[in-house]
Amino acid sequence: MIKQIKSFLRPLKRKIIIIKANIIRFRNKQLNPDYFCTRNTKRCFSNTKSPNYNYEYFGENTPICCATHLYTILKDVTTVLEENDLEYFISFGTLLGAVRHGGLIPWDTDTDILITEKDKEMIFKVLKEKLSSKYLVNKDIDENIVGNILRVNLSDTNTLHIDLFTYIEEKDEIVFGYNRRFNKEDIFPLQKISFYDSDFFAPLDIKKQLETFYGKEYMKYAYKQWAYNKAKFEISDFSPAKINN
Ligand SMILES: [Zn+2]
Repeated sequence: MIKQIKSFLRPLKRKIIIIKANIIRFRNKQLNPDYFCTRNTKRCFSNTKSPNYNYEYFGENTPICCATHLYTILKDVTTVLEENDLEYFISFGTLLGAVRHGGLIPWDTDTDILITEKDKEMIFKVLKEKLSSKYLVNKDIDENIVGNILRVNLSDTNTLHIDLFTYIEEKDEIVFGYNRRFNKEDIFPLQKISFYDSDFFAPLDIKKQLETFYGKEYMKYAYKQWAYNKAKFEISDFSPAKINN
């Protein structure tokens, strides 16, 4: 019964949020939406001073400011890992974005990489040492279902971030992402894949990886508001999220 009431109220709540957000955005409309959030402000989604406030609820693309921060964090973190010979590969939406758009999925809200559980402590130490002056490096973020992960936030205030999920090895298998199992040769040796003007490490069998998490039609269909209404649509524009170079 409570469940039914909750599911009845959910769309209503969403409508109220959208009405509120519209009022706030109308007030902020003279501001430039492309260059809004910084490390000293909240991220656009949760910042009532932003003309991009609650953009995900409107089914809009990630604003240039947010997308640029996401790309910069990803680039900085992977650069440190590569310089220190610490293995990683991009995964989930970040891998899908690389393959389908050559960069961030236009409406993505974070980036994801995989590291081995064995390196987790070392990677935390290295990132903390190299990036603490620029970002907030977190350990043991409890993502309940997926276990503890590392996360690097743009700042204490702006929570745009990269998640570093871990995989474990069990005999010849690599296990991650809600206990999904891959053969070692599905992942290794890693290859490089281009992402805007960078190259990042990716698993060897990209198709297998993406089909496992997003189904066989990942190049054709997308779910824009994944967290809210999962509306499926056919993709016609394959360009990545706009970033500020
Ligand atoms: Zn922003």
